[in-house]
Amino acid sequence: MQRVVVLGGGVGGTLTANLVARKLRRPIARGEADVTVVDATGTHAYQPGYMYIAMGQEKADKLLRPERSLLDGNVNLVVDGITRIDTATQTVTLESGRSLAYDQLVIATGSRILPEEIEHFGEEAHHFYTAEASARLRKALDAFTGGRIVIGIAGIPYKCPPAPLEVAFLVESELRERGLRDRTELTFLSPINRAFTIESVSDMATPIFAEKGIHLELLAGVAEIDPERKVVITDAFEEHPYDLLIVVPPHKGAQVVIDSGLAPKSGWLPTDRHTLRVKTVAKPAPGQADEDVPRYANVYALGDATDLPLSKAGSTAHFEAPIVAERVAAAVLGREPEGKDASYTGKVMCFFEVGDGKGTLLQFDYEHPPKPPKPNQLWHLGKLVFNKTYWHTVPRGRV
Ligand SMILES: Cc1cc2nc3c(=O)[nH]c(=O)nc-3n(C[C@H](O)[C@H](O)[C@H](O)COP(=O)(O)OP(=O)(O)OC[C@H]3O[C@@H](n4cnc5c(N)ncnc54)[C@H](O)[C@@H]3O)c2cc1C
Repeated sequence: MQRVVVLGGGVGGTLTANLVARKLRRPIARGEADVTVVDATGTHAYQPGYMYIAMGQEKADKLLRPERSLLDGNVNLVVDGITRIDTATQTVTLESGRSLAYDQLVIATGSRILPEEIEHFGEEAHHFYTAEASARLRKALDAFTGGRIVIGIAGIPYKCPPAPLEVAFLVESELRERGLRDRTELTFLSPINRAFTIESVSDMATPIFAEKGIHLELLAGVAEIDPERKVVITDAFEEHPYDLLIVVPPHKGAQVVIDSGLAPKSGWLPTDRHTLRVKTVAKPAPGQADEDVPRYANVYALGDATDLPLSKAGSTAHFEAPIVAERVAAAVLGREPEGKDASYTGKVMCFFEVGDGKGTLLQFDYEHPPKPPKPNQLWHLGKLVFNKTYWHTVPRGRV
């Protein structure tokens, strides 16, 4: 019996488990293989929808489905917290005290937000990284009648790099529609020396900030909040007064991978860019090439959990899952990985809202940076259609 254990029932874990089960249909039927997903909640959340709650266009209950309903009938689901991964004994320990042995392990435990790492974040700042926080932001926007709105980012990497820019553009459109634009000063604090990490996307977005009259401040990562004076302080010690503050909270990988000694304090799993195998150490030793760092033979990571230099996006997990599934299935079947899914090329594809019913598309891989088309209605509608059809497509492996 070959046991495949997938940690995390988000987009990456669900899709990988379904693809592996499909590839191992016969061995599973003969009792020679077994695929299990472990997830703390047993509920699958479509997180991109959170941003639309803040924009008043989505409801929280529409973004949740039972994980079981998305899994292939041949995949087992264990609803439990994962507390330890032991690569020496090839076992995973769960909160209930139960342990699961594996022959092939897939880690898709995503990322965590840590607003508490910035003092006064909870009382002063809004965000849109949970359904609850987005609903609170919506209420604050409804109550807003003019003043200073500051949108910032407290640390890189964070989930969905375009999201804070999209929020800035969408809020600006909304304020115009509500007749509040003349009474509002909008500031976007970018933590790096341009509007977006990828140069070509930054080149596309920078003129949009200018056209919309949104002040773009560079090298301005959010470091502190002073609630008395209502100012946000950047890591360059600049102060920006706000009446309404929206901040992308700090992010880290799952605590369990740190506690298990698989990832450094950041929680991002050191991952091979092509095979998606987890590396045994986060950095090569002095004089050692990255390719010479040993990889675990039977431990893979995908989605937000990795340290790969790519967007932390559902789309990244979507395009990584077929590679992990092919490699895991090949190991179980005792063959080499084959075909186009043998190696990951860094493929990512994300829609990007720019407001006023328009959007663009970011499509790229390790070798080819994105060339976003001129924003138009088509890509905005594309994103809306994708949001609605997600449940029937991506996690089930239908696109
Ligand atoms: C506001 C917002 C907008 C976004 N917009 C987009 C977008 O437009 N396009 C896009 O591609 N992506 C977008 N994303 C990002 C996307 O949602 C994530 O990148 C994606 O969900 C990552 O998938 P994952 O499988 O790696 O992790 P997740 O989907 O986060 O799943 C991780 C799972 O692991 C489980 N887990 C973690 N730790 C444990 C543990 N110790 N024990 C048991 N279970 C555990 C969790 O319960 C969770 O179910 C957005 C995200 C947000 C928040």
